[in-house]
Amino acid sequence: MPRAQRIQSIGVDELISHLRDLASNLWWSWNEEGWSVFQTLEPNEWRATNHSPLGTLERTSPARIAALACDPIFVKRVYDGLAARAAYLGERAWFQRGALATMRGLRIGYFCSEYGLHESIQQYAGGLGILAGDHLKSASDLGIPLVAVGLAYRHGYYIQQLARDGSTVVLYPDYDFARWGIEDTRVTIGCPIGQRIVTARVMRLWVGRVPLYLLDTDLKANAPEDRKLTEGLYKGEPHLRLRQQILLGVGGMLALKALGEKVTVLHLNEGHAAFAALQRALELHAVGRPMQEAIDAARRATVFTTHTPVPAGHDRYDQALIAEELAPLAQRAGLSSVEFADLGRIKPGDSTESFCMTVLALRLAQRVNGVSKLHGEVSREMWKQFYGVAANKVPIGSITNGVHIKTWIDPDAERFWRGACGLRLSKQAPKGTGWRHAESCNPTEFWQLRARLRSRLVHFVRDRLAMQAKRRGEGQSAVAATYSLLRDDVLTIGFARRFATYKRAPLIFHDADRLAALLARSDRPVQLIFAGKAHPRDEGGQQFAQQIFQMSRDRRFAGRVAFIEEYDMHVGRMLTSGCDLWLNTPIRPYEASGTSGMKPPLHGGLNCSILDGWWPEAMDGINGWSIASAPESDDPVARDRADSCSLYALLEDSIVPQYYQQDAQGVPHGWIARALHSAATIPSVFNSHRMVAEYTRKAYMPAFQIRGS
Ligand SMILES: *Cc1c(COP(=O)(O)O)cnc(C)c1O
Repeated sequence: MPRAQRIQSIGVDELISHLRDLASNLWWSWNEEGWSVFQTLEPNEWRATNHSPLGTLERTSPARIAALACDPIFVKRVYDGLAARAAYLGERAWFQRGALATMRGLRIGYFCSEYGLHESIQQYAGGLGILAGDHLKSASDLGIPLVAVGLAYRHGYYIQQLARDGSTVVLYPDYDFARWGIEDTRVTIGCPIGQRIVTARVMRLWVGRVPLYLLDTDLKANAPEDRKLTEGLYKGEPHLRLRQQILLGVGGMLALKALGEKVTVLHLNEGHAAFAALQRALELHAVGRPMQEAIDAARRATVFTTHTPVPAGHDRYDQALIAEELAPLAQRAGLSSVEFADLGRIKPGDSTESFCMTVLALRLAQRVNGVSKLHGEVSREMWKQFYGVAANKVPIGSITNGVHIKTWIDPDAERFWRGACGLRLSKQAPKGTGWRHAESCNPTEFWQLRARLRSRLVHFVRDRLAMQAKRRGEGQSAVAATYSLLRDDVLTIGFARRFATYKRAPLIFHDADRLAALLARSDRPVQLIFAGKAHPRDEGGQQFAQQIFQMSRDRRFAGRVAFIEEYDMHVGRMLTSGCDLWLNTPIRPYEASGTSGMKPPLHGGLNCSILDGWWPEAMDGINGWSIASAPESDDPVARDRADSCSLYALLEDSIVPQYYQQDAQGVPHGWIARALHSAATIPSVFNSHRMVAEYTRKAYMPAFQIRGS
């Protein structure tokens, strides 16, 4: 590479090839030196492609590229980006620098059914995927030897639109994998599913230092129903789901073997991936170990993270289906179909019990954890029958989730904290530095940052609402009216999540008149911004979206409630950076962790949440509010009424008055003290560097040391 200072201009082909190179590793997505190059390339296309580097490049005119090739400042930025990435990939990170470096041979195979890496790579449905994406990025930053496995879904999850009546329209676009900077490894595998061998090609996406291998069965060699295995995420009925899970677990292990990736520890991120550990036992059995011994050995080297306290969230299959699809595996294990089905039963031999993926994972993993302290407790209670001991003796621990700060922090906020309290995110340490000094920031400057972030959000929401109105054919005056919705100087409350019904998105509308009175007070106005997708088959969740959409058009809330379609990582980033208050109203204890509430504190936002998931660990009485909640077992109607009343009381008596207790310059010192305390106490703990370091110490290393195989 030429010395940067001397660069004047380069050839067009050379520039294109450097840009393709920069796009070939997702490092660009969490480093400003990466993504901002593509944003500059063609800002409109950058937006139109939902921030896809290769999509933007494809749509940039040859004249524009030729002009940039002669622009020494732009060319230097491209070289600087590549140089920064090379330095990152080559550096000795946390894992290599510490005592952990002696763990030679530790290599983790991480399996998950979805990955939320970037908004332009639509391969996630919600929190599980986002967590997996953040896990890979932190593993890369910290230098943890990890390779990841998943499926490549041609149609992704789905794109959400709302019709004029607020009902959900489900769209399935066809994605071009090449546009994600994916490489074809040219390795194919044959995965036994039922009576057929399904062919999958293995593709690779680089996430910093971490390779993510994605399997694709949409190949001519396969029968039509096998091609559908990688059509979409969580699309199917049980039969398709089971076959997808065999592909992920068994196919994924075969892919690692074919690639020469020698993984020593397996991490099953949710029960979907449990067949991977079984395949590992079968590999040991194939070279001469008795099956039970092989299972024990696989078990010692397997880590399992369970993610849901909602019973319906655990996949269950009929024995007949298991017998049909897993016959070849059972045969190789030397097990009858009944013995095989017993692997997924709490009580082996009980033919009335269905085969449960979580039970299989519990049986095949020595180290099991929930994703918050509370969820660990709930999981111990939930699975005590399986272990046959009292709940407090159940060997399920907890490792609380975290977010990848560089992915979620707004660059403006990062610059603010760097200047105001010495935040240094490039220092790759699990604890992060600087946050604890947040409280010494200048309140007025901090309030200016908040105003910029809020105002940017308001403009973003108006643009989106105008686009939505146009698409629905709502007429010019309706489209124009969207530009006067919302204000950029009022308390802004955000709520964005997957619209699973236990999350109770519409709870705040329980008493619509009381809420309307609260929002409309001219001396202290409040506004609400919503986003969220329900699963295409979840009618209850879709009704929630419809209800909120209709509220956003209700006269009582005119201009103060907005619903934006298609919640994705970008919408999430905009909302969590711009909102003053982040609302979370699940039915306790169904929110295993939740991570969206960890994002506002990176921007001095505050949480207002039911004491569920991660929040009981973080809440200290100053850094946010907790909504008192009725127990889950209460009558649902009475429970929702009680919980919404607690929420109204909090908003009316403390949150709104505190926000509007402002000095002559409009600066609310009491609120700011809380906001800075939120930044000082939450990001330093609830981040994915801490989380991945904890997995390494508590799970990966012990599993590696005792694996004995
Ligand atoms: C952070 C995030 C999530 C996870 O949020 P929860 O708190 O688990 O609801 C889900 N989806 C998107 C797009 C996110 O950004």
